[in-house]
Amino acid sequence: MACCFAEVNLRSMRIAEILCTGTELLLGHTVDRHLPWLARQLFPLGFRVGRFTIVPDGEPIKFALQEALARKPEIVLVSGGLGPTSDDLTRESLAEVLGTQLVESSVAIEAIRKRLQERKRSFIPSMRKQALHPPGALLLENNFGTAPGIAQKIGQGYWVFLLPGPPRELQPMFLDYVVPLIKEYFPKKDDQIIEKIYTVVGLGESAIEELIGREIEANSDIEVGYCARPNEVDLRLIGKKNVLESWDAKIRNTLGDHLACEDGLKLEEVVIKELRQERLKISVAESCTGGLIASRLTDVSGASEVFVCGVVAYSNEAKSNLLGVPVELIASHGAVSQEVAKAMAEGIRKLTKSDFAIATTGIAGPSGGTPQKPVGTCFIAVAANGKPTVCLSVYLPTTREAFKFAISQTALNLLQKVLKKVKKS
Ligand code: ATP
Repeated sequence: MACCFAEVNLRSMRIAEILCTGTELLLGHTVDRHLPWLARQLFPLGFRVGRFTIVPDGEPIKFALQEALARKPEIVLVSGGLGPTSDDLTRESLAEVLGTQLVESSVAIEAIRKRLQERKRSFIPSMRKQALHPPGALLLENNFGTAPGIAQKIGQGYWVFLLPGPPRELQPMFLDYVVPLIKEYFPKKDDQIIEKIYTVVGLGESAIEELIGREIEANSDIEVGYCARPNEVDLRLIGKKNVLESWDAKIRNTLGDHLACEDGLKLEEVVIKELRQERLKISVAESCTGGLIASRLTDVSGASEVFVCGVVAYSNEAKSNLLGVPVELIASHGAVSQEVAKAMAEGIRKLTKSDFAIATTGIAGPSGGTPQKPVGTCFIAVAANGKPTVCLSVYLPTTREAFKFAISQTALNLLQKVLKKVKKS
């Protein structure tokens, strides 16, 4: 859900605009990577991104730049269009907006020549264009490409940064040259503004709003936002550190076991960390999730210390032959049943001598549903050594892909809850 910046944050934070140029972005050939990366870098520097614009190469850059400057954000970051070809017009656009002529930097020409020489490439006359800049601008060295960036101060304290399009060039240039300039010219107004994210599994965004969100909004100047994904929601708070801290205990109590992870950590990272801390082993037996849980767990570095085995037991035969699920159990209850989910989890746990095991069995659809067990039905079991096996029945009719992710998320959250109980006992 979109939300306006709360008053407190508008006053306490500065505004940046990001303008990406590139026809390939608007044709859908390239997915923008600059906004997510830059926005994450800017926040701790005391900046919110107020607007993000993508324009095609060429003339539109000038108009977009004019519009951005008219809104007077403290900084405008422009990416792309610094190359040597005729459609690379970002420098020219800035010069036109400033009503000035570009001048050539001999230092930049030499840097370009040197870089090409090192790579045994020849200098093509059109490359001179990359050494042009508005008079008085700072040139930002490009250690990963030929085109230098440009930092241009405008009036009393607005800055425009022209940065190269490729992320491998833009990111180091931003960190090495733009960040120090930002720190020098824009000291943070309020060191206390922070962002806190609570990732919640098993509650929808409206439920979270009812349970706690509205109360926070009504009683504090915290900016509250929600970001929903399949079967998980981020509750995002922005505000003064001490104010956020004063709400933390209440939020944790209210969300209880639904609180799966915090501050952008993934659930699999949290689970692997907890298992490593307790030196506990895990295995998984998956049917409807098709190996996604094993894949997510093994995506985490250090998983080898705790992850023993993952089996995708899709057919009834595999469930019986590999995991020891009794044929009669499948015949009497069906493969998608609480009994079979539990038997799968217990089977893989014993087989692999693990402390814990997760099992999933369900109907992802679109076909295969029945009136008794419609598409979206799923049973998730977690077996723990010396404890009764728990099983969750869920109903999540959605696309196959979203179903698999949501079930894997619910399963990891169920494991988390069981782990918590085992730790307490
Ligand atoms: P070059 O000298 O390579 O021409 P440039 O500064 O002119 O660099 P562009 O030509 O606009 O930049 O883009 C160069 C490369 O960077 C292309 O592969 C492009 O797809 C990629 N790129 C540009 N903008 C983005 C973006 N917003 N997100 C991800 N990749 C991008």
